[in-house]
Amino acid sequence: MIWNEEVECMADEDKRKLQLKRLQDVVKRAYENVPYYRKRFDETGISPEDIKTLKDIEKIPYTTKTDLRGAYPFGMFAVPRKEIVEVHTSSGTTGKPTVSGYTRGDLEIWSECMARGLTMAGVTDEDVIQNTHGYGLFTGGFGVHYGAQKIGATVIPISTGQSRRQMEIMRDFGTTFLVVTPSYGLYLAEEFMDDGMDLKDLKLKAIGFGAEGWTQEMREKLEEKFNAPAYNIYGLTEVMGPGVGIECAEQDGLHIFEDHFYPEIIDPQTLETLPDGEKGELVITTLTRKGMPLLRFRTKDITTLRRGKCKCGRTLVKMDRVTGRSDDMLKIRGVSIFPSQIEKALFKIDGLEPHYQIIVTRPEQLDELEIQVEASQELFSDEVKELVGITRKIEERVHSEIGLRVNVTLVEPRSLPRSEGKAVRVIDKRDL
Ligand code: ZN
Repeated sequence: MIWNEEVECMADEDKRKLQLKRLQDVVKRAYENVPYYRKRFDETGISPEDIKTLKDIEKIPYTTKTDLRGAYPFGMFAVPRKEIVEVHTSSGTTGKPTVSGYTRGDLEIWSECMARGLTMAGVTDEDVIQNTHGYGLFTGGFGVHYGAQKIGATVIPISTGQSRRQMEIMRDFGTTFLVVTPSYGLYLAEEFMDDGMDLKDLKLKAIGFGAEGWTQEMREKLEEKFNAPAYNIYGLTEVMGPGVGIECAEQDGLHIFEDHFYPEIIDPQTLETLPDGEKGELVITTLTRKGMPLLRFRTKDITTLRRGKCKCGRTLVKMDRVTGRSDDMLKIRGVSIFPSQIEKALFKIDGLEPHYQIIVTRPEQLDELEIQVEASQELFSDEVKELVGITRKIEERVHSEIGLRVNVTLVEPRSLPRSEGKAVRVIDKRDL
């Protein structure tokens, strides 16, 4: 068990003092050592001395993924390259990858955050952790690994893939804590059951899931299939990796480690800072990072911040489940929708499998939205009129959720492509 009672249960006033001191320090370091920040500050006409209160953070310009790409590969480092002991990158699927560099001290902090987070989810040195996150440039594998080792748990660095081996190891090594992306977790459950395994026979105590968007309904499916509670882990490569925020036993929002990260919520259109409790884009400033400090990094993740003492005793601010990315937002006939809204509607209906795809087309002038969703084996062997009934029901549910008419196609179980990483939910065929 690793937790830092002093900061995790700190009174608000003390926390703000600590954050201000660290903010002033990181701003100074960024200004003095990163040419990008010096230029931005000089252009905006501000200097590190202008940060006198936490609210003054609003004077600092945002940092975006595009800015990081512009500094590719090592332009955002605030220390000589020699002091960087590890690098990770984003996947780079939508352009040049962003690079994240860590000093030895940064890796220590990463391990500590992740260890404190896993402790929240109930992990101790008695646990056996099966880490299916990929080890490599992706931060998921290593982040979980560092935290688990810091706690003293037994880590199985199996990475993604080889589902049969995942199953054998899970059974033979007595895995108690499984780390997965939600879609890979559901895929594994399906494979295990196909092989005649009863998931209830496993020693699994809990699941840690992250690296992908999810809905409450998806969490429930995971919990039901593995018969274990599932806790969300949040993080992003640019800021650190997994461990920026994690859910405690209450499963009611993710505590953000405010001694290392300063979160804000902004309106992604007007870029104004929003008060606590309002939904918007999460912006994070790293308070202690030495290798690559980030000031007001726009995560694109849509969420809400809530303050107050949690039932677990922590006073760390909580962020709600991420309901979408400002990037993933689909504009369909002028209406803004998130794939998670569709998922929410789908998972409320019995007889469906948690596998679906959203296909957007524009045959004439108007956008059309088609949802392909897998029916369960039982439903699929029913009569045609049953299928038609369910199709109508889905169309109505989705309509009431997003306010648009959609076409629903029920497809055979196992017919949609499976993913061993992040699932591809949206196929946009429009020529935009
Ligand atoms: Zn809590």
